[in-house]
Amino acid sequence: MPELPEVEVFRQIFNSSALNQKVAKVDVLDDGILENISSRAFEIRMKNATFQATHRHGKYLFVELDTEETLMIHFGMTGYLEYYKDGEEEPEYSRIVFNLNNGYNLYYVCPRKLGRVSLVEDEADFIEENKLGPDTYSDEFKWEDFREIMKGKRGSIKTTLMNQQLLAGIGNVYSDEILFHSNIYPFTEVNELNEEELRTIFEKMKMVFEQAIKAEVKEEKFPKNFLLLKRSEGEECPICGGMIKREKYSGRSSYYCEAHQKKK
Ligand SMILES: [Zn+2]
Repeated sequence: MPELPEVEVFRQIFNSSALNQKVAKVDVLDDGILENISSRAFEIRMKNATFQATHRHGKYLFVELDTEETLMIHFGMTGYLEYYKDGEEEPEYSRIVFNLNNGYNLYYVCPRKLGRVSLVEDEADFIEENKLGPDTYSDEFKWEDFREIMKGKRGSIKTTLMNQQLLAGIGNVYSDEILFHSNIYPFTEVNELNEEELRTIFEKMKMVFEQAIKAEVKEEKFPKNFLLLKRSEGEECPICGGMIKREKYSGRSSYYCEAHQKKK
């Protein structure tokens, strides 16, 4: 599932391909992807709009248009963007095609159809209405903010990190990664963590995002000590040589090293 680093890389790809381009035509191939707007209205309102600027908040990508509306893109479990010259074969599972004036097409691809696309009036209002927490990679998001959010929280550190209403951007894979580098067992209760441990989690979160974005989220470019290269039971821990364990919770798998992420 695309998490903060993936969406940041999609944003960078968007900037280097489609930014400042004008939309000649839009084809919605599956209107189940659209939220709060019909495909006809979406096609009419996107036609002749120019992509002016991009922002990311957590796992959401926002593209400011010159029409005073903003295109909101969420990638669900499996979504991504593709950019091809018109006439090349269309990617499988394309749900929306943005036909650009420069002769290229931008495709919103989403095999499992759990993504969402919409036009919103204002990005800040959207973030507020959806009750999203602060973007965890933003420079404005500081340790003091993180400490405040963690104060008095119940439940495990992993599920707290993944709660988008508290912190925007972290999902299943990166919560494991952050805790792996922090030497913390994922199902430790938040109220069992001391200030030093929380501070480590905050710093490792910034480090993990920075490295993942620098690697353009390509496996071969990740640092060799990253857990996401070893997400399978019985693998050798790339930090201490211990054994990687898997634990299921709410139908999803969490991975950790039983040697250096000990239960309290
Ligand atoms: Zn280890």
